[in-house]
Amino acid sequence: MEFRLIDRIRERTAQGRDDVRLGIGDDAALLAVPEGQELAVTIDTLVEGVHFPRDTAPADIGWKSLAVNLSDLAAMGASPAWALLALTLPKAQSADAIQAFIDGFAEGFAQLAQPHRLALVGGDTTSGPLTISVAVHGFVPPGKALTRAGAKVGDVVLVTGTLGDAAAGLYLLQHGGRVEAGDAPRDYLVGRLNRPTPRLAAGVALRDRANACLDISDGLLADLGHICEESSVGAEIDSVLLPRSSALLGLFDETSTRDFALSGGDDYELCFTVPSTRVADVQADLARLGCGATRIGRIVEGSGVRVREADGSWLEPARQGWDHFAA
Ligand code: ADP
Ligand code: MG
Repeated sequence: MEFRLIDRIRERTAQGRDDVRLGIGDDAALLAVPEGQELAVTIDTLVEGVHFPRDTAPADIGWKSLAVNLSDLAAMGASPAWALLALTLPKAQSADAIQAFIDGFAEGFAQLAQPHRLALVGGDTTSGPLTISVAVHGFVPPGKALTRAGAKVGDVVLVTGTLGDAAAGLYLLQHGGRVEAGDAPRDYLVGRLNRPTPRLAAGVALRDRANACLDISDGLLADLGHICEESSVGAEIDSVLLPRSSALLGLFDETSTRDFALSGGDDYELCFTVPSTRVADVQADLARLGCGATRIGRIVEGSGVRVREADGSWLEPARQGWDHFAA
């Protein structure tokens, strides 16, 4: 049965690439790395009930398990090529239920893989609590990868897209409440949680221009904190500058939208720093690519991330963490 499942995955994710010399079906895939490129590789695991809610649609799980990995490649300025998929499926389900899950999963996975010409070249299938590991491989010209380590004092800090949507979507799912059919703002926020958009084109556009870059998976404060640590600098953020969607602003008060934007996870937007002379150019290019880029603060001497409120006061550090969402 396992083989039939693998065949279904293979059919639904088929992607012709010359550099795949041998794909799914043998003991290992054989892949040709183009001359003059470095390989960027990353892996992420999603566990049911931890990284996505228990009743998430299989197609959304398929999309998201790939999206979180493509987002890591985007943050490096790399272009995706190949993926491996390790699936752990609960034994208790009927064969029909497993097949339905695989079909939905493969559909969502393929919807994101196809426009990026990403080929699924192998994987592993086993039984246990529902867990999905995806590894992706991408290319970047030698020396051009974006890292967390290059931020310089005086750099401007920018983010793509809007912040806090996914965390707000999760909050809405967890706190239920009345849901109107066709509730567009709610659907938008839940969609941002289940189907994040990896900013791959933005990552490529930032090669040679951003001094430091990462993707926001654990929340802006935590992730910008990683840039500060790796670059041995500090950052100052203005809370009024945080880009927030109209859906988020329409459903929550100002303090909640700020807290979602600062500390909410799962955004998969890019946070990056550029010298002030390049900001206008970078913003114009990322606007053209559709995601836009908003300046939210500056890199300063010192360490850690500080957040300035509208009245000029500094936000209490105690209010900066995940705790707000733990209740
Ligand atoms: P082996 O025991 O030699 O590792 P498997 O039976 O695990 O082989 O897998 C057979 C083939 O199917 C291999 O090419 C493997 O990469 C591929 N494969 C297994 N599971 C998956 C999966 N979930 N997604 C994609 N390819 C898979
Ligand atoms: Mg195996």
